[in-house]
Amino acid sequence: NSFFDNYLKMLYNTIYKIILLVERMKDIKINARAKINIALDVLRKREDGYHDVRMIMQQIDLFDEIHIQETSKSGIHIKTNLSYLPNNSGNIAYKAAALIIEKYNIKKGVQIHITKHIPVAAGLAGGSTDAAAVLKGLNTLWNLGLNTQELMGLGQKLGADVPFCILGGCALAEGIGEVLTPIKGIDCFVVLCKANVRVSTADVYKKLNLSHITEHPNIDAMIQDLQMGRPIEDIRSNMINVLETVTIKEHPIVYNIKRKMMECGSEASLMSGSGPTVFGLFNDYGKAKTAFENLKKLYKETYLVKTNMK
Ligand code: ATP
Repeated sequence: NSFFDNYLKMLYNTIYKIILLVERMKDIKINARAKINIALDVLRKREDGYHDVRMIMQQIDLFDEIHIQETSKSGIHIKTNLSYLPNNSGNIAYKAAALIIEKYNIKKGVQIHITKHIPVAAGLAGGSTDAAAVLKGLNTLWNLGLNTQELMGLGQKLGADVPFCILGGCALAEGIGEVLTPIKGIDCFVVLCKANVRVSTADVYKKLNLSHITEHPNIDAMIQDLQMGRPIEDIRSNMINVLETVTIKEHPIVYNIKRKMMECGSEASLMSGSGPTVFGLFNDYGKAKTAFENLKKLYKETYLVKTNMK
């Protein structure tokens, strides 16, 4: 009898362990990559307060690590390695999960662990890419069968940059940034340097005076050059970001970093998004590494990565 009891106990334990194992297997890890804008033009202010833009977005190999685990109990739990980031519905990754759970009436929950490497509020779409990764991850985890277009449609509800983060690679972004046309990217090294100042994207757009802007990028010419696989030297005359006029006026340090980036040997340098991050493009790894090492001595948040060609 006691032999039988022990046998049952063992069997029960084994089954329990298998269930735990299967439960634990329902998880997924995704690298959520950042973007830079290699050209950014603002066309007009719209009735709804947003601006129509035309910009070239290029994904880079700087990424946050996103680990999504299914939980049997409902609810969304966010953990991040940065104590100042929201771990409730204020986190855009939470919003992404909530959107999927509600739309597909999912009874389970998720634990989302975010390890940030992309600097926050930097003009690199750090939050948007986390949201994009959660949408993609849950689509896979729960076999929802959504294609890229459908995922991008969902992403648009969360933010203008989210669809691009789902698409990846390089693209022309129009509308408020959500109308995307994939193009050939630029294959090079990127040194990024974030000034230690705070910039609010909404504020920058509010202060933008379109009638005062004299220099606009020729986006069509840049697309043509990229499609032909022309080098950085050929595209740099159109590497213009009209938002620099606002951000540099308020934070001259952004201009200083651009100058330093060029002094350090970059082929071209520009502010990304509404700033305050400045990037420099390099053909040569050795040159990029030297620039990275020199800039890192001056600015703590300096990175060296490659563009992501998808
Ligand atoms: P963009 O280039 O799209 O304008 P950004 O890189 O300038 O974005 P984010 O890093 O997305 O800016 O951060 C903007 C704000 O969003 C931060 O102040 C932060 O508190 C909030 N936030 C919410 N969720 C996240 C997240 N997962 N990662 C980073 N920031 C987040």
